[in-house]
Amino acid sequence: FHLRQQDLLTLKSLGEGQSGTVTKVLHVPSNKLMAKKQIMFEKNFKVQNQILRELKILNEVHHSSIIEFYGAVFIDSAGISDDTETNGSSNNDTTEKESRIPNDAVSHSSSSDDKKIPSNNTNYSSENSGVNSNGVLICMEYMDCGSLDHILKKLGFLKEVYLSKITINVLQGLNYLYSNHKILHRDIKPSNVLLNSRGEIKLADFGVSRELNNNSIADTFVGTSTYMSPERIQGDVYSIKGDVWSVGLMLIELSTGEFPFGKKDTPNGILDLLQRIVNEDPPSLPRTKFSNELCDFVDLCLKRQNERPTPLELLDLPRSFLTKYQNEESGPLLRHLSRKLKKLKK
Ligand code: ATP
Ligand code: MG
Repeated sequence: FHLRQQDLLTLKSLGEGQSGTVTKVLHVPSNKLMAKKQIMFEKNFKVQNQILRELKILNEVHHSSIIEFYGAVFIDSAGISDDTETNGSSNNDTTEKESRIPNDAVSHSSSSDDKKIPSNNTNYSSENSGVNSNGVLICMEYMDCGSLDHILKKLGFLKEVYLSKITINVLQGLNYLYSNHKILHRDIKPSNVLLNSRGEIKLADFGVSRELNNNSIADTFVGTSTYMSPERIQGDVYSIKGDVWSVGLMLIELSTGEFPFGKKDTPNGILDLLQRIVNEDPPSLPRTKFSNELCDFVDLCLKRQNERPTPLELLDLPRSFLTKYQNEESGPLLRHLSRKLKKLKK
C-alpha cells in the first residue's frame, strides 16, 4: 500500500534508540498495526540516495525470521511528511527505473505525474527527492511481545530451551540475508531481536538503520554495550562471522542476565572494553550452571574469526545446542513464552 503520514494513528511509544524513536501506530486504511521508526539524518543528497537504495533492498527481503518492511515516508525538518507519492514506475533521478519498488513502498517527492503536494508542506521541492528531506519514517511489522532486551528485564534470564529456538531463528535470518541479498546484519543484539504472540522470532534493524547507526565508530559506542567482534574493532575484514560473534555474546547475556564484559558508563570504560574484547580470551559460560551443549556453542561463536563457523555451519552441526531440543516444536514453545510475558504485564 501507499503509506502516507496522515494515515498513521499514533498509539504509544515503543522505545528510543540512538538513531531515532519507535512508535506503535495503526495504519488506518488497512487497519494494520505497525511499528514506525523515525530516523533523522543530514540533509544531503548522498545520504538520501544511500537510504533510497537501502529501502529498495528492504523491500525485497521476505523471510519468516525477518521483520516485514511495509514502507517509508521521507519527512522534512519540521517533521512534515514529504509524501508526494512515487509510483513503483517512477522515473525520477534517484530511483533506478528497473528496480521498481512494489506497493508504493517508498513515498517521497518526485517528478512523477500524479504528485499531490500536501498543503502544509512548505519545504517541498519537486526537483529532487533528496534535498529537502532530513528524516525518514520506516514502517515495519509490529511485534507485540517486544525485543529480547525488554523480555530479559522482565524475566531476569531465558531458559536454554527458549534460547535454542531463538538462536535457530536468528541464524536462519542471518543466513537468508547473507545468501540471498549479500547483507550482513552488523547490529545483532537483544534489542534487535523481537518476539510476537504467534511464537515468531524476527530480526530488525539491518539496512537503513544500520547505515545511519554505524556510520562512525563513535556512534556505535554511545550508551549501550558493544556486540562488535574483535576483528571489526581492529578494522579487519568484516564478514558474516562478525554477526556470529554478536550471537555468542547475546547468548551469554540472555542466559546469565548480564552482558559479559560488564557495563561501560565512563568514557574510559569504552576504550577499556574495546581493548578487552580485542586482547582478552573471549568470555564463556560457567559449565557448572549451563549445559555442555550451550557452553560449547557459545565457545564456537566466540572463536577468533578464522576458526569461527558461519551461521549455516552452525545450523548444520549434526549434534549441538540447536539440535538438543529438536523434538520440541519451536512455535508452541515460544507461544508459551509469550503467554508467560503477557501474564507478567498484568
Ligand atoms: P539502538 O539504537 O542502539 O539500535 P534499540 O534497538 O533499542 O537501540 P531502536 O531500534 O530505535 O533502538 O528501538 C527502540 C525500541 O523499540 C526497541 O528496544 C524495541 O523494544 C522497540 N521496537 C523496535 N522495533 C519494534 C517492532 N517492530 N515491534 C515492536 N517493538 C519494536
Ligand atoms: Mg533497534
